[in-house]
Amino acid sequence: METEVLVVGAGLAGLNCARILKEKGFKVKVLEANTRIGGRMATDFVDGFTLDHGFQVINPAYPELVANQLVEKLELTPLPKGVEIQIDDRFILLGDPRKSLSYLPGDLSSRTGNPAEKLRFLQFLFQKAPEVDLGTALNGAGDFYRKVIRNFLMGVFLTDPDLVSAVMARELLHWFVKGNPGLPRTGAQALPRALAQNLEIEFDARVTKITESGVQTNDGVRTSEFVVIATDEVFAREILGQAAVDMNSSTTWYHAVELGEIESKHLRLGSSYGVVNTIALSNLVKEYAPSGKTLISTTTLNNQSERGIRSALSRIWQMPESKFQYIKHYEISKSLPKHLPGKPLLSPVKISDRIFAAGDYLAVPSQQGALQSGRLAAEAIIASS
Ligand SMILES: Cc1cc2nc3c(=O)[nH]c(=O)nc-3n(C[C@H](O)[C@H](O)[C@H](O)COP(=O)(O)OP(=O)(O)OC[C@H]3O[C@@H](n4cnc5c(N)ncnc54)[C@H](O)[C@@H]3O)c2cc1C
Repeated sequence: METEVLVVGAGLAGLNCARILKEKGFKVKVLEANTRIGGRMATDFVDGFTLDHGFQVINPAYPELVANQLVEKLELTPLPKGVEIQIDDRFILLGDPRKSLSYLPGDLSSRTGNPAEKLRFLQFLFQKAPEVDLGTALNGAGDFYRKVIRNFLMGVFLTDPDLVSAVMARELLHWFVKGNPGLPRTGAQALPRALAQNLEIEFDARVTKITESGVQTNDGVRTSEFVVIATDEVFAREILGQAAVDMNSSTTWYHAVELGEIESKHLRLGSSYGVVNTIALSNLVKEYAPSGKTLISTTTLNNQSERGIRSALSRIWQMPESKFQYIKHYEISKSLPKHLPGKPLLSPVKISDRIFAAGDYLAVPSQQGALQSGRLAAEAIIASS
Protein backbone atom coordinates (compact mmCIF):
# COMPACT_ATOMS: atom_id res chain seq x y z
CA MET A 1 0.00 0.00 0.00
CA GLU A 2 1.18 3.56 -0.76
CA THR A 3 2.36 5.64 2.22
CA GLU A 4 0.13 8.71 2.61
CA VAL A 5 1.62 12.16 3.26
CA LEU A 6 -0.20 15.45 3.83
CA VAL A 7 1.82 18.55 2.97
CA VAL A 8 0.46 21.74 4.54
CA GLY A 9 1.22 24.73 2.29
CA ALA A 10 1.72 25.05 -1.48
CA GLY A 11 4.68 27.44 -1.37
CA LEU A 12 8.05 26.45 -2.85
CA ALA A 13 8.99 24.30 0.19
CA GLY A 14 5.72 22.33 0.21
CA LEU A 15 5.63 21.89 -3.56
CA ASN A 16 9.22 20.64 -3.78
CA CYS A 17 8.64 18.24 -0.89
CA ALA A 18 5.41 16.92 -2.46
CA ARG A 19 7.02 16.57 -5.90
CA ILE A 20 9.97 14.52 -4.59
CA LEU A 21 7.75 12.25 -2.50
CA LYS A 22 5.36 11.69 -5.41
CA GLU A 23 8.27 10.72 -7.66
CA LYS A 24 9.25 8.12 -5.04
CA GLY A 25 5.76 6.59 -5.11
CA PHE A 26 4.19 8.18 -2.02
CA LYS A 27 0.51 9.20 -2.08
CA VAL A 28 0.78 12.94 -1.46
CA LYS A 29 -1.88 15.60 -0.99
CA VAL A 30 -1.06 19.30 -0.56
CA LEU A 31 -3.47 21.32 1.62
CA GLU A 32 -3.36 25.03 0.80
CA ALA A 33 -5.22 27.72 2.77
CA ASN A 34 -5.22 30.11 -0.20
CA THR A 35 -7.00 29.74 -3.55
CA ARG A 36 -3.73 29.49 -5.48
CA ILE A 37 -0.28 27.97 -5.32
CA GLY A 38 3.02 29.76 -4.75
CA GLY A 39 2.70 31.34 -1.29
CA ARG A 40 5.00 34.36 -1.40
CA MET A 41 5.64 33.82 -5.12
CA ALA A 42 2.35 35.07 -6.53
CA THR A 43 1.52 37.08 -9.64
CA ASP A 44 -1.61 39.04 -10.62
CA PHE A 45 -2.50 40.19 -14.12
CA VAL A 46 -4.23 43.58 -13.97
CA ASP A 47 -5.20 45.62 -17.05
CA GLY A 48 -2.34 44.17 -19.10
CA PHE A 49 0.26 44.57 -16.31
CA THR A 50 2.06 41.61 -14.69
CA LEU A 51 2.25 42.30 -10.96
CA ASP A 52 4.35 40.06 -8.73
CA HIS A 53 3.60 40.24 -5.00
CA GLY A 54 6.97 41.85 -4.33
CA PHE A 55 9.95 42.52 -6.58
CA GLN A 56 11.39 39.05 -6.85
CA VAL A 57 14.11 37.69 -9.13
CA ILE A 58 15.09 34.07 -9.78
CA ASN A 59 18.73 33.01 -9.74
CA PRO A 60 19.39 30.24 -12.27
CA ALA A 61 22.49 29.27 -10.28
CA TYR A 62 20.37 28.04 -7.35
CA PRO A 63 21.26 24.32 -7.07
CA GLU A 64 17.61 23.29 -6.50
CA LEU A 65 16.55 24.90 -9.80
CA VAL A 66 19.36 23.14 -11.61
CA ALA A 67 18.59 19.79 -9.92
CA ASN A 68 14.90 20.09 -10.87
CA GLN A 69 15.75 21.07 -14.46
CA LEU A 70 13.55 24.14 -14.08
CA VAL A 71 15.80 26.85 -15.48
CA GLU A 72 14.79 26.44 -19.15
CA LYS A 73 11.07 26.23 -18.29
CA LEU A 74 11.16 29.65 -16.59
CA GLU A 75 12.20 31.65 -19.69
CA LEU A 76 14.28 34.05 -17.59
CA THR A 77 15.41 37.46 -18.79
CA PRO A 78 18.56 38.32 -16.82
CA LEU A 79 18.80 41.63 -14.98
CA PRO A 80 21.90 43.71 -15.69
CA LYS A 81 24.52 42.95 -13.01
CA GLY A 82 24.78 46.51 -11.83
CA VAL A 83 22.82 49.13 -9.90
CA GLU A 84 22.30 52.87 -10.01
CA ILE A 85 22.95 54.42 -6.65
CA GLN A 86 22.25 57.94 -5.49
CA ILE A 87 25.24 59.59 -3.81
CA ASP A 88 25.06 63.34 -3.07
CA ASP A 89 22.16 63.93 -5.50
CA ARG A 90 23.89 62.14 -8.39
CA PHE A 91 23.18 58.64 -9.67
CA ILE A 92 26.27 56.49 -10.16
CA LEU A 93 26.19 53.25 -12.15
CA LEU A 94 28.32 50.43 -10.76
CA GLY A 95 28.36 46.66 -10.90
CA ASP A 96 30.18 43.53 -11.98
CA PRO A 97 32.96 44.71 -14.33
CA ARG A 98 33.16 41.19 -15.81
CA LYS A 99 29.71 41.83 -17.31
CA SER A 100 30.14 45.38 -18.59
CA LEU A 101 33.02 47.82 -18.68
CA SER A 102 30.46 50.62 -18.33
CA TYR A 103 30.47 49.81 -14.58
CA LEU A 104 34.19 50.53 -14.16
CA PRO A 105 34.02 54.33 -13.63
CA GLY A 106 31.45 53.84 -10.85
CA ASP A 107 33.37 50.87 -9.39
CA LEU A 108 36.56 52.91 -9.25
CA SER A 109 34.99 56.21 -8.16
CA SER A 110 36.08 57.43 -4.73
CA ARG A 111 32.45 58.52 -4.17
CA THR A 112 31.52 54.82 -3.79
CA GLY A 113 34.29 54.11 -1.23
CA ASN A 114 38.08 53.89 -1.23
CA PRO A 115 40.06 50.94 -2.70
CA ALA A 116 40.87 49.48 0.75
CA GLU A 117 37.15 49.36 1.61
CA LYS A 118 36.32 47.65 -1.67
CA LEU A 119 39.11 45.13 -1.10
CA ARG A 120 37.77 44.46 2.41
CA PHE A 121 34.37 43.64 0.91
CA LEU A 122 35.94 41.24 -1.62
CA GLN A 123 37.83 39.53 1.24
CA PHE A 124 34.53 39.11 3.08
CA LEU A 125 33.04 37.39 0.02
CA PHE A 126 35.87 34.94 -0.39
CA GLN A 127 36.61 34.05 3.26
CA LYS A 128 34.65 32.18 5.94
CA ALA A 129 32.32 34.72 7.58
CA PRO A 130 32.39 35.25 11.37
CA GLU A 131 29.29 34.45 13.51
CA VAL A 132 28.42 38.13 14.00
CA ASP A 133 25.96 40.59 12.49
CA LEU A 134 26.72 41.91 9.01
CA GLY A 135 27.19 45.50 10.21
CA THR A 136 30.07 44.34 12.44
CA ALA A 137 31.53 41.98 9.81
CA LEU A 138 31.63 44.72 7.16
CA ASN A 139 32.64 47.58 9.42
CA GLY A 140 36.01 47.66 7.64
CA ALA A 141 34.28 48.11 4.27
CA GLY A 142 33.33 51.64 5.40
CA ASP A 143 31.65 53.84 2.78
CA PHE A 144 31.49 51.06 0.20
CA TYR A 145 29.30 49.04 2.59
CA ARG A 146 27.35 52.03 3.98
CA LYS A 147 26.64 53.79 0.66
CA VAL A 148 26.39 50.88 -1.80
CA ILE A 149 26.20 47.30 -0.49
CA ARG A 150 23.98 48.08 2.49
CA ASN A 151 21.45 49.87 0.27
CA PHE A 152 21.39 46.97 -2.15
CA LEU A 153 21.03 44.38 0.64
CA MET A 154 18.15 46.27 2.24
CA GLY A 155 16.08 45.11 -0.76
CA VAL A 156 17.37 41.55 -0.45
CA PHE A 157 16.78 41.04 3.29
CA LEU A 158 13.82 43.46 3.55
CA THR A 159 15.23 44.73 6.85
CA ASP A 160 18.29 46.59 8.12
CA PRO A 161 21.22 44.48 6.75
CA ASP A 162 23.39 45.53 9.73
CA LEU A 163 21.38 43.14 11.90
CA VAL A 164 21.36 39.94 9.85
CA SER A 165 23.76 37.03 10.23
CA ALA A 166 27.03 37.66 8.34
CA VAL A 167 27.31 33.93 7.59
CA MET A 168 23.87 33.88 5.94
CA ALA A 169 24.49 37.17 4.09
CA ARG A 170 27.75 35.88 2.64
CA GLU A 171 26.02 32.69 1.47
CA LEU A 172 23.32 34.68 -0.34
CA LEU A 173 25.84 37.14 -1.82
CA HIS A 174 27.72 34.18 -3.22
CA TRP A 175 24.69 33.23 -5.31
CA PHE A 176 24.52 36.78 -6.68
CA VAL A 177 28.16 36.61 -7.72
CA LYS A 178 27.75 33.13 -9.21
CA GLY A 179 24.48 33.51 -11.08
CA ASN A 180 22.64 36.11 -13.11
CA PRO A 181 19.17 36.50 -11.58
CA GLY A 182 16.30 37.17 -13.94
CA LEU A 183 12.57 37.58 -14.38
CA PRO A 184 10.32 34.91 -15.90
CA ARG A 185 8.30 36.09 -18.92
CA THR A 186 5.01 35.25 -17.16
CA GLY A 187 5.87 36.56 -13.68
CA ALA A 188 7.38 35.05 -10.53
CA GLN A 189 4.54 32.57 -10.20
CA ALA A 190 6.05 30.65 -13.14
CA LEU A 191 8.34 28.89 -10.64
CA PRO A 192 5.70 27.39 -8.32
CA ARG A 193 3.55 26.63 -11.39
CA ALA A 194 6.35 24.54 -12.89
CA LEU A 195 6.81 22.66 -9.60
CA ALA A 196 3.11 21.99 -9.07
CA GLN A 197 2.52 20.05 -12.27
CA ASN A 198 0.67 16.75 -11.63
CA LEU A 199 0.39 17.30 -7.87
CA GLU A 200 -2.89 16.81 -6.00
CA ILE A 201 -3.66 20.14 -4.30
CA GLU A 202 -6.72 21.01 -2.23
CA PHE A 203 -7.33 24.77 -2.11
CA ASP A 204 -9.20 26.72 0.58
CA ALA A 205 -8.02 24.06 3.02
CA ARG A 206 -6.77 25.91 6.10
CA VAL A 207 -5.15 23.56 8.58
CA THR A 208 -6.00 24.49 12.16
CA LYS A 209 -4.54 21.62 14.20
CA ILE A 210 -2.31 18.55 13.97
CA THR A 211 -4.18 15.48 15.24
CA GLU A 212 -3.13 11.93 16.24
CA SER A 213 -3.91 10.62 12.76
CA GLY A 214 -3.49 13.62 10.46
CA VAL A 215 -4.69 17.22 10.54
CA GLN A 216 -7.84 19.20 11.22
CA THR A 217 -8.85 21.73 8.53
CA ASN A 218 -11.56 24.39 8.36
CA ASP A 219 -13.90 21.77 6.89
CA GLY A 220 -12.98 18.47 8.49
CA VAL A 221 -10.26 15.98 9.32
CA ARG A 222 -7.68 14.54 6.88
CA THR A 223 -5.72 11.45 7.84
CA SER A 224 -2.23 10.37 6.78
CA GLU A 225 0.86 8.56 8.02
CA PHE A 226 3.13 11.64 7.74
CA VAL A 227 2.47 15.39 7.93
CA VAL A 228 4.78 18.11 6.59
CA ILE A 229 4.15 21.63 7.90
CA ALA A 230 5.41 23.74 4.96
CA THR A 231 3.98 27.12 5.94
CA ASP A 232 5.61 30.42 6.89
CA GLU A 233 7.46 30.49 10.21
CA VAL A 234 4.73 32.34 12.13
CA PHE A 235 2.05 29.73 11.48
CA ALA A 236 4.46 26.79 11.76
CA ARG A 237 5.48 27.89 15.26
CA GLU A 238 1.87 28.43 16.26
CA ILE A 239 0.69 24.98 15.19
CA LEU A 240 3.79 23.25 16.57
CA GLY A 241 3.36 25.01 19.93
CA GLN A 242 6.70 26.87 19.68
CA ALA A 243 7.46 30.44 20.83
CA ALA A 244 6.03 33.14 18.55
CA VAL A 245 8.28 35.13 16.18
CA ASP A 246 7.96 38.20 13.98
CA MET A 247 8.89 38.26 10.31
CA ASN A 248 10.16 41.18 8.23
CA SER A 249 7.54 43.09 6.28
CA SER A 250 7.64 45.13 3.07
CA THR A 251 5.41 46.86 0.55
CA THR A 252 5.67 46.78 -3.23
CA TRP A 253 4.19 49.62 -5.27
CA TYR A 254 3.32 49.55 -8.96
CA HIS A 255 3.11 52.67 -11.12
CA ALA A 256 3.09 53.15 -14.89
CA VAL A 257 4.62 55.87 -17.05
CA GLU A 258 4.34 56.42 -20.80
CA LEU A 259 6.72 54.25 -22.82
CA GLY A 260 10.09 55.91 -23.36
CA GLU A 261 9.90 58.23 -20.33
CA ILE A 262 12.27 55.94 -18.37
CA GLU A 263 14.88 54.00 -20.32
CA SER A 264 17.00 52.51 -17.52
CA LYS A 265 17.05 48.73 -17.12
CA HIS A 266 18.98 48.94 -13.83
CA LEU A 267 17.74 48.65 -10.30
CA ARG A 268 17.86 52.14 -8.84
CA LEU A 269 18.60 52.17 -5.12
CA GLY A 270 16.56 54.77 -3.29
CA SER A 271 18.17 54.95 0.13
CA SER A 272 16.16 58.09 0.83
CA TYR A 273 12.47 59.09 0.78
CA GLY A 274 11.61 55.67 2.30
CA VAL A 275 12.25 53.88 -1.01
CA VAL A 276 14.54 50.85 -0.91
CA ASN A 277 14.71 50.32 -4.65
CA THR A 278 12.79 50.96 -7.86
CA ILE A 279 13.03 49.43 -11.32
CA ALA A 280 11.33 49.73 -14.71
CA LEU A 281 10.38 46.06 -15.00
CA SER A 282 8.91 46.18 -18.50
CA ASN A 283 12.15 47.63 -19.86
CA LEU A 284 13.50 44.14 -19.12
CA VAL A 285 10.49 41.97 -19.92
CA LYS A 286 8.17 43.89 -22.21
CA GLU A 287 5.24 41.52 -21.45
CA TYR A 288 5.06 43.05 -17.93
CA ALA A 289 3.22 46.13 -19.32
CA PRO A 290 0.61 46.72 -22.04
CA SER A 291 1.79 48.45 -25.20
CA GLY A 292 2.69 52.12 -24.80
CA LYS A 293 3.38 51.82 -21.02
CA THR A 294 6.35 51.13 -18.75
CA LEU A 295 5.73 49.34 -15.43
CA ILE A 296 7.68 50.61 -12.40
CA SER A 297 8.07 48.44 -9.30
CA THR A 298 9.10 50.15 -6.05
CA THR A 299 9.92 48.51 -2.71
CA THR A 300 9.51 50.15 0.71
CA LEU A 301 9.86 48.58 4.14
CA ASN A 302 7.01 50.55 5.65
CA ASN A 303 3.66 51.28 4.17
CA GLN A 304 3.94 54.95 3.12
CA SER A 305 1.14 56.94 1.51
CA GLU A 306 0.73 56.60 -2.25
CA ARG A 307 1.19 60.36 -2.58
CA GLY A 308 4.49 60.10 -0.67
CA ILE A 309 5.70 57.31 -2.93
CA ARG A 310 4.84 59.27 -6.08
CA SER A 311 6.72 62.26 -4.74
CA ALA A 312 9.74 60.00 -4.01
CA LEU A 313 9.54 58.48 -7.49
CA SER A 314 9.46 61.93 -9.02
CA ARG A 315 12.72 62.80 -7.25
CA ILE A 316 14.41 59.46 -7.90
CA TRP A 317 13.46 59.25 -11.60
CA GLN A 318 13.69 63.04 -12.02
CA MET A 319 10.25 63.42 -13.64
CA PRO A 320 7.09 65.28 -12.60
CA GLU A 321 4.89 63.41 -10.11
CA SER A 322 1.91 63.67 -12.45
CA LYS A 323 3.61 61.31 -14.94
CA PHE A 324 3.30 58.36 -12.51
CA GLN A 325 -0.02 56.51 -12.72
CA TYR A 326 -0.75 54.39 -9.63
CA ILE A 327 -1.64 50.76 -10.51
CA LYS A 328 -1.68 48.75 -7.25
CA HIS A 329 0.34 48.00 -4.14
CA TYR A 330 0.93 44.91 -2.01
CA GLU A 331 1.60 45.05 1.70
CA ILE A 332 3.46 41.86 2.59
CA SER A 333 3.29 41.52 6.34
CA LYS A 334 5.30 38.26 6.43
CA SER A 335 7.85 38.79 3.67
CA LEU A 336 11.00 37.14 5.05
CA PRO A 337 12.06 35.30 8.22
CA LYS A 338 14.60 37.07 10.42
CA HIS A 339 17.97 35.34 10.16
CA LEU A 340 20.07 36.67 13.02
CA PRO A 341 23.69 35.80 13.98
CA GLY A 342 24.04 32.29 15.39
CA LYS A 343 21.16 30.79 13.43
CA PRO A 344 22.44 27.85 11.34
CA LEU A 345 22.24 27.85 7.53
CA LEU A 346 20.18 24.66 7.76
CA SER A 347 17.92 23.67 10.69
CA PRO A 348 16.50 20.18 11.36
CA VAL A 349 13.23 19.37 9.60
CA LYS A 350 12.16 16.41 11.77
CA ILE A 351 9.76 17.35 14.58
CA SER A 352 8.62 13.83 15.57
CA ASP A 353 8.38 10.39 13.95
CA ARG A 354 5.44 11.53 11.82
CA ILE A 355 5.64 15.34 11.74
CA PHE A 356 8.18 17.22 9.60
CA ALA A 357 8.68 20.89 8.80
CA ALA A 358 9.82 22.74 5.67
CA GLY A 359 10.16 26.41 4.78
CA ASP A 360 12.64 29.16 4.02
CA TYR A 361 13.02 29.92 7.77
CA LEU A 362 14.82 26.55 8.16
CA ALA A 363 17.50 27.49 5.62
CA VAL A 364 18.89 30.61 3.94
CA PRO A 365 15.76 32.80 3.52
CA SER A 366 15.32 32.57 -0.26
CA GLN A 367 13.74 30.49 -2.98
CA GLN A 368 16.77 28.17 -2.81
CA GLY A 369 16.37 27.80 0.98
CA ALA A 370 12.64 27.02 0.71
CA LEU A 371 13.20 24.43 -2.03
CA GLN A 372 16.13 22.89 -0.16
CA SER A 373 14.22 22.48 3.10
CA GLY A 374 11.32 20.92 1.15
CA ARG A 375 13.80 18.42 -0.28
CA LEU A 376 15.26 17.68 3.18
CA ALA A 377 11.79 17.00 4.63
CA ALA A 378 10.99 14.65 1.71
CA GLU A 379 14.30 12.82 2.16
CA ALA A 380 13.70 12.49 5.92
CA ILE A 381 10.28 10.90 5.28
CA ILE A 382 11.74 8.56 2.66
CA ALA A 383 14.38 7.52 5.20
CA SER A 384 11.75 6.97 7.94
CA SER A 385 9.29 4.89 5.92
C1 LIG B 1 8.94 40.77 -1.50
C2 LIG B 1 9.75 39.51 -1.57
C3 LIG B 1 10.85 39.45 -2.41
C4 LIG B 1 11.62 38.29 -2.45
N1 LIG B 1 12.67 38.23 -3.33
C5 LIG B 1 13.38 37.09 -3.45
C6 LIG B 1 14.40 36.98 -4.43
O1 LIG B 1 14.63 37.90 -5.22
N2 LIG B 1 15.12 35.82 -4.47
C7 LIG B 1 14.88 34.78 -3.62
O2 LIG B 1 15.55 33.74 -3.71
N3 LIG B 1 13.89 34.84 -2.70
C8 LIG B 1 13.14 35.97 -2.60
N4 LIG B 1 12.12 36.04 -1.70
C9 LIG B 1 11.92 34.91 -0.77
C10 LIG B 1 11.11 33.75 -1.35
O3 LIG B 1 9.99 34.22 -2.07
C11 LIG B 1 10.63 32.91 -0.17
O4 LIG B 1 11.75 32.56 0.60
C12 LIG B 1 9.92 31.62 -0.59
O5 LIG B 1 8.95 31.87 -1.58
C13 LIG B 1 9.27 31.02 0.65
O6 LIG B 1 8.63 29.80 0.33
P1 LIG B 1 8.01 28.88 1.46
O7 LIG B 1 7.43 27.70 0.80
O8 LIG B 1 9.02 28.65 2.52
O9 LIG B 1 6.86 29.76 2.16
P2 LIG B 1 5.53 30.42 1.57
O10 LIG B 1 5.76 30.92 0.21
O11 LIG B 1 5.11 31.41 2.60
O12 LIG B 1 4.48 29.23 1.49
C14 LIG B 1 3.73 28.82 2.60
C15 LIG B 1 2.35 28.37 2.12
O13 LIG B 1 1.63 27.87 3.24
C16 LIG B 1 0.28 28.28 3.14
N5 LIG B 1 -0.31 28.23 4.49
C17 LIG B 1 -0.02 29.03 5.54
N6 LIG B 1 -0.78 28.68 6.62
C18 LIG B 1 -1.54 27.62 6.21
C19 LIG B 1 -2.51 26.80 6.86
N7 LIG B 1 -2.87 26.99 8.13
N8 LIG B 1 -3.09 25.78 6.15
C20 LIG B 1 -2.75 25.56 4.86
N9 LIG B 1 -1.84 26.32 4.20
C21 LIG B 1 -1.24 27.32 4.87
C22 LIG B 1 0.40 29.70 2.59
O14 LIG B 1 -0.84 30.13 2.02
C23 LIG B 1 1.50 29.52 1.55
O15 LIG B 1 0.99 29.15 0.29
C24 LIG B 1 11.30 37.18 -1.64
C25 LIG B 1 10.18 37.22 -0.79
C26 LIG B 1 9.41 38.37 -0.78
C27 LIG B 1 8.18 38.38 0.09
